[in-house]
Amino acid sequence: MNIHEFQAKQLFTQFGVPVPKGKEIKTPRAAEKWAATLDSAVFVVKAQIHAGGRGKAGGVKLTKNKEEVPALAKELLGKTLITHQTGPKGKKVRRLLIEEGAGIAKELYLSLVVDRDSGCPTFIASTEGGMEIEEVAAHTPEKVLREAIDPAVGFQGYNGRNLAFGLGLASIEPAVVNPFIQMLGNLYRLFMEKNASLVEINPLVITTDKRLLALDGKVSIDDNALFKHPDIQALRDVHEEEPLEIEAGKHNLSYVKLDGDIACMVNGAGLAMATMDVIKLAGTEPANFLDVGGGATKETVAAGFRILLKDKKVKGVFINIFGGIVRCERIAHGVIDAAKEVGIRLPVVVRLQGTNAEEGRQLLLDSGLKVDVATDLWEAAQKIVGMRRKKKG
Ligand code: GDP
Ligand code: MN
Repeated sequence: MNIHEFQAKQLFTQFGVPVPKGKEIKTPRAAEKWAATLDSAVFVVKAQIHAGGRGKAGGVKLTKNKEEVPALAKELLGKTLITHQTGPKGKKVRRLLIEEGAGIAKELYLSLVVDRDSGCPTFIASTEGGMEIEEVAAHTPEKVLREAIDPAVGFQGYNGRNLAFGLGLASIEPAVVNPFIQMLGNLYRLFMEKNASLVEINPLVITTDKRLLALDGKVSIDDNALFKHPDIQALRDVHEEEPLEIEAGKHNLSYVKLDGDIACMVNGAGLAMATMDVIKLAGTEPANFLDVGGGATKETVAAGFRILLKDKKVKGVFINIFGGIVRCERIAHGVIDAAKEVGIRLPVVVRLQGTNAEEGRQLLLDSGLKVDVATDLWEAAQKIVGMRRKKKG
């Protein structure tokens, strides 16, 4: 789950990571009141959306004049911001973060992620802050430092020194070396205690008065750990999430909406990935990832169906079930009931394999529904992709 910048900065404060003085604002009136309490040479008004690249897209406004803050707030609130991370539809700005601006001497990059190669939480740091780190890594990989933290031992002073001296902080600004090492320890604590999958500060700045300050903040929390963190759950902003994904969550379905036109309903994440691959191989793109789970029931299949069909881009449905824990005739009943209830006007191909597959296929054939029944994965994928083409042409 992603959270907003202002929420990430509240977590930073809880864990002793310095941030500018700021507040979440929803109206120009509140902006005016809050600005009156600020004291700085510059004031910053920042759109709060779950996407980066706001600066370049006009979502971060700076002014030296406090009186201008409400007007800037009015300009941004309600606006749809299109950044390189939002996609062409953009995101509507409903909240702002209004902060005291900082005098910037140097912008750094710092993040903490789970690195699958080392199997460790790993810091990534660079002196090239404020830019897209992907660009820095592509053109000047030597400027991107990594430091893996052994989770059995935890963050150690030497990890901090490796990064601080690796970045050359001692020559950039010696006064920030120790605060930087302390900040790394605090971020590591945040990461572990909140079960984060990403903590990113870009830019982390050295101010003109030689302090370290997190000017931006991005935190993602592992969904599988959310049950342990009611405080984080409370930060969920449903406006920022895909409505169909929220609905799928209510039925305990793992659903991720994608941009293709073949919807797929599969049991088991591995088979779901393989199904998406064969759809691509057959010449088109999957409309979603949907894992109805090893123990899929009639009800979950029906719920999955309804969600798939709400996506207007879908031109065909591919149901691919391996009956291991679940028996295929039950799935067939689920498909038949759901199809009757929802009323499907799209081509559907069902591939059943495993326990009672034969029986399941027969039920579908006898149901009078217009569904195609298949046994072979590759044939099934080619079939549904072909049917979509016919429909299109
Ligand atoms: P992003 O573009 O979505 O990553 O948003 P950021 O929070 O990183 O802000 C974009 C840019 O605005 C930063 O890289 C800074 O250059 C600038 N910015 C943000 N806050 C301040 C500030 O307090 N003072 C100054 N001078 N610039 C700021
Ligand atoms: Mn940023």
